[in-house]
Amino acid sequence: MPLLLNIETLAKGPVRLRGELSPEELDMETLDELVEADEPLDYDLTAERAGDNILLRGRLTMRLQCECARCLRPFVHRVELPEWSCLLPLAGEEKIELINVSADLTPYLREDTFLAFPQHPLCEPGCGGSPKWTGGDGKPLKIKEACGEPSEASVWSKLDNLKLE
Ligand SMILES: [Zn+2]
Repeated sequence: MPLLLNIETLAKGPVRLRGELSPEELDMETLDELVEADEPLDYDLTAERAGDNILLRGRLTMRLQCECARCLRPFVHRVELPEWSCLLPLAGEEKIELINVSADLTPYLREDTFLAFPQHPLCEPGCGGSPKWTGGDGKPLKIKEACGEPSEASVWSKLDNLKLE
């Protein structure tokens, strides 16, 4: 079921629209293989007549399964448009197509949500790419093997260094 709004109901005043559009209804294909849109789009909108237009206002949310472009870690990205609005003309050259007396709102929700998809998904804003070294806090985790044959002296001096720490 696409999201249909009977525009005659708007004559009585604003109409609240709440629900979700499934991935199948959205038929949204992401161009980026790092972003997967396989969860529904949630909408919570108010529709009202504004002159020769329908004014849609409200919140759009959608969860995306992403893969970080730098470290390839999977993560969930929430697309959130808390103050989304859209003006649909009912007259003039740009007027929207009606099915009898109903307007299909699906394409407008889809388009703006799609535009809010991350272009370069990152698991966190400063993701540095490869996973961090666990020894990054400055403490040696183990004595590194020296190249070639380690002399006995160097082994002992390493142990001394460890005791001192
Ligand atoms: Zn990352």
